[in-house]
Amino acid sequence: MEKITIALTKGRILKDTLPLFAEAGIEPVENIAESRKLIFDTTLAHVQFVVIRGTDVPTYVQLGAADIGVAGKDMLLEHGAAGMYEPLDLGIARCRLMTAMMRDQALPRGKIKVATKFVNVARRYFAAQGTQVELIKLYGAMELAPLMNLADVIVDIVDTGNTLRANGMEPADTIADISSRLVVNTSAMKRKHEAITDVVERLRKAVTARETVSA
Ligand code: AMP
Repeated sequence: MEKITIALTKGRILKDTLPLFAEAGIEPVENIAESRKLIFDTTLAHVQFVVIRGTDVPTYVQLGAADIGVAGKDMLLEHGAAGMYEPLDLGIARCRLMTAMMRDQALPRGKIKVATKFVNVARRYFAAQGTQVELIKLYGAMELAPLMNLADVIVDIVDTGNTLRANGMEPADTIADISSRLVVNTSAMKRKHEAITDVVERLRKAVTARETVSA
């Protein structure tokens, strides 16, 4: 079959991704966690993994450097999905993209200051609400921004809500339900149809098998 490259998101999402791929019969031939390498052969001779930051996965797939990717829906919403298909919800790394603010604190009248890593998502969300905002791009520790009077509201990933509560904040509105998605480069889908369809169908079966067990 054609050679294909799958871009995986490193970090906590990888811990959820590798067991699902193993259930689909695709495993790295060496331990990714114990290696400093970025490219890994797999038990399918024509398939290799590259392990990169989640924010970079849509870029690799969109530009065709990787044929397939595993990316959080949050990354896809922020980056845009041009040049990619999204054939499968992998059902892993579930969380929510939410607005959050300090507990018991009223919002100012007029323009609201919003700190987030997800400026494109936030811009669209508040525009649809008809709310005037000033967006402040941050790269981490969003929950610090209201404490330091940098922002009134944050837009961030929430799982248990513990991070927010530990910093005197509370979640407010859900912007989107998030999980990891399989994305495929549209032109690779045509050129490498057999190999890509094989991977998508293997994963589809693994996801369905999990749903059957948990139902
Ligand atoms: P929690 O305290 O459980 O609400 O987790 C909040 C933090 O964990 C967020 O600020 C994120 O940085 C991170 N997080 C939780 N779940 C995910 C996920 N599925 N994908 C990416 N980051 C996550």
